[in-house]
Amino acid sequence: MSQPNQSEALETAKASELAGASSGAEWLARYSDSLMGVFGTPQRVLVRGQGCYVWDADGRQYLDLLGGIAVNALGHAHPFVTSVISSQLATLGHVSNFFTSPTQVALAEKLLAITGAPAGSKVFFANSGTEANEAAFKLARRNSKNAEGGRRTKVVALEGAFHGRTMGALALTAKKAYREPFEPLPGGVVHVAFGDIEALRAEVDSTTQAVFLEPIQGEAGVVPLPEGYLAEARRITRDAGALLIVDEVQTGIGRTGSWLAIEGSGVMPDAVTLAKGLGGGFPIGAVVTFGPEASAFLSAGQHGTTFGGNPVATAAALATIHAIESQGVLPNVLAVGDRLRERLVALPEVAEVRGRGLLVGLDLALPAAVPDDANLAAAVVNAALDAGFIVNAPGPRTLRLAPPLILTAEQADTFADALPGLIAAAVATLIPKETP
Ligand SMILES: *Cc1c(COP(=O)(O)O)cnc(C)c1O
Repeated sequence: MSQPNQSEALETAKASELAGASSGAEWLARYSDSLMGVFGTPQRVLVRGQGCYVWDADGRQYLDLLGGIAVNALGHAHPFVTSVISSQLATLGHVSNFFTSPTQVALAEKLLAITGAPAGSKVFFANSGTEANEAAFKLARRNSKNAEGGRRTKVVALEGAFHGRTMGALALTAKKAYREPFEPLPGGVVHVAFGDIEALRAEVDSTTQAVFLEPIQGEAGVVPLPEGYLAEARRITRDAGALLIVDEVQTGIGRTGSWLAIEGSGVMPDAVTLAKGLGGGFPIGAVVTFGPEASAFLSAGQHGTTFGGNPVATAAALATIHAIESQGVLPNVLAVGDRLRERLVALPEVAEVRGRGLLVGLDLALPAAVPDDANLAAAVVNAALDAGFIVNAPGPRTLRLAPPLILTAEQADTFADALPGLIAAAVATLIPKETP
């Protein structure tokens, strides 16, 4: 029996030919008529990317200093990643987890190697950061008994934490506006004051299953854990028999200049979650469990996924990691990140600069003329877009930059040079107009 015939016309086509062409304004009108409103109005309609630049439907170019929220580690349309993804898709695209594939196994081995995982460590693949944390939450729930024969039922996370938006991951996320409309959430999660080691010590006991931490809270505005907190959290969790689970969805895979942000801290957690930059723009998430004990909490049948760890996603991640390794990307992250922070902190319009590598947070000084309740950062985002820069505002005074890891010093400088003018343009839109 022969395969169904594919007509000539279906052999090659670009997605743009399937979607059709419109102006940005027309796409946005069609968007609001057809897409659920959870994201508000998109800032622009993007049609093409190359390296650190993207172009919108009206032909305008932007320096992408957000990288799809810390995702496009190698920028847009990276030739090596693109070629590996297309050739894998043209060879074998999806198999389900009744089967495995060479890229899945090779990526698991690679992740264990670059995270410095000891013998007996394991990997679970998902499709996003939320799903990786959801799996880690289920893993934590299996740490259910303590030495005294009692039950563990509590999971501890931090104020300011962002771990995702599904019901389990949302239970770990701190922000009330995200949580409250969806209560009741899975129970037993307690949030303690950020960076306060005594608050953590007071909450973690023999009923605690796990503590979830981000080394740098990205969504909260790029806020690093205080010096020494992670090591002390490891001591506290180990003493209590609780797991230490580190969410490196945003900070991992080179974002801070090392494979993990916790690298070099001397701390070995029980699990690390990864996603965002891992697939270089292709969706994939992962949980790495450290050592045989943490790796045995989820047994056959206790968790699963249809797409997770598929050949294309794992090929994309293998290609991304290979390109980061072979093209000197990690030293670039450190050098350009340091330069960018140095330039930004020197600006009188900037009150504080935080972060490591190419995860940069900055607080804007509030000019006297601007009302206290004005969203200055959102106004700067708009001024930046008008000037051809994509940046993000996680708070009303805070900007976040998470550009491709291949950003050059010259590209970083164009933004630092432009920022005072962008802030001035934003301020002009916020100052109450004199009524004549
Ligand atoms: C983005 C993010 C998530 C959620 O990842 P998704 O891929 O959006 O599901 C979880 N944790 C952290 C720290 C993140 O930055």
